[in-house]
Amino acid sequence: MSNIALRRAVRRYKRVYREIRMVALALKSPHHPVFAHMVVTRRCNLACTYCSEFDNFSKPVPIEEMNRRVDRLAALGTTAITLTGGETLLHPQLEDIIARIRSHGIIVLMITNGYLLTVERIERLNRAGLDRMQISIDNVQPDDVSKKSLKVLDQKLRWLAQYAEFPVHIHSVVGAGTTRPEDALTIQKRARELGLGSSAGIVHDPTGHIQAIDEKSKKTLEDIEGMSKPLFSFARHNPWRANLLRGQPNDWHCPAGGRHLYICEDGLVHYCMAQRGYPAIPLADYTQADIDREAKAPKSCAPYCTIFCVHRIALLDQIRDNPGKALVQLFPAPEPGQAKPPLPIRALTAAFSSAGPERSAPSRSTLLFRKAALRILNIH
Ligand code: SF4
Ligand code: SF4
Repeated sequence: MSNIALRRAVRRYKRVYREIRMVALALKSPHHPVFAHMVVTRRCNLACTYCSEFDNFSKPVPIEEMNRRVDRLAALGTTAITLTGGETLLHPQLEDIIARIRSHGIIVLMITNGYLLTVERIERLNRAGLDRMQISIDNVQPDDVSKKSLKVLDQKLRWLAQYAEFPVHIHSVVGAGTTRPEDALTIQKRARELGLGSSAGIVHDPTGHIQAIDEKSKKTLEDIEGMSKPLFSFARHNPWRANLLRGQPNDWHCPAGGRHLYICEDGLVHYCMAQRGYPAIPLADYTQADIDREAKAPKSCAPYCTIFCVHRIALLDQIRDNPGKALVQLFPAPEPGQAKPPLPIRALTAAFSSAGPERSAPSRSTLLFRKAALRILNIH
């Protein structure tokens, strides 16, 4: 095994342990943020015409302030932080922020357009301890809408395939930066060819609501999902996504503001990137009472929401609070030949779902398994 393959294997083992721990913590308690998105700079080096997330002048948030925000999120019990922008690689001390997050044992992810990646920067991200990277690619050839193109980024993807010790995920939003939805399929095929992860999302408007997509785009999404390996995929098992694609609203509770936080460049807490302005309380002043109140607050934007990372957290909460309903929604009886969810998810579900109010008291063996899982995962 080569050095890089060995380092990747060791890191994968440790990361999977920490990710299982994150899920177990989320199942065990509803009182901490599971995920936070944190803006490191609003500035971007590109100007995609559909984007409302950037400007071309903001300075990076100073490192001292970023460290304070990371420490505050850690004190609130946050289990994963995604660094976002603008363009994250424009922050000159991005690696210091990543290392600070890792020093708290928090999982750290970043989103980038990839333009500024070099071999040297990838190696710095390795050393800082980055857990995952997501790159969005909109089209095969650059056009007036978006320059996040496979043609421009292919060399960066090859460097990542060769040097990155963290998983890289290529995300294409069907209906966003292209008039050719079939480009998304080409992008996903290239990602797989290089051994990188891939996924496709649905375009939403600035408030997080789904935008209508045509039949060609729907077919592209189906083709991309059809390429998936026969493993559990949240996209395939997300019952709310399927409903949205049929134009139907969803009946779910959004826990943003409590279980998911979006921290803008000014250090204010918002529900998500699409619902900025609520509750807009400084992170430095955010308390447990704020988390518990906002997690329970109804959100009028929920029925047509496409913010899938918040869907994920809501499903975890549903597994804990109403396991029967959640499991039927998430894992309908598999068709012959269809894959079951992976063993860790089934085991954790079995261990923690009996905490819900609908269940009778857990059996002795379930209690023993739960205790052992908590001990192994170092959860008290
Ligand atoms: S690269 Fe990302 S942040 Fe920059 S303009 Fe495009 S979509 Fe917005
Ligand atoms: S439902 Fe929640 S995640 Fe979705 S747009 Fe509204 S506040 Fe954001």
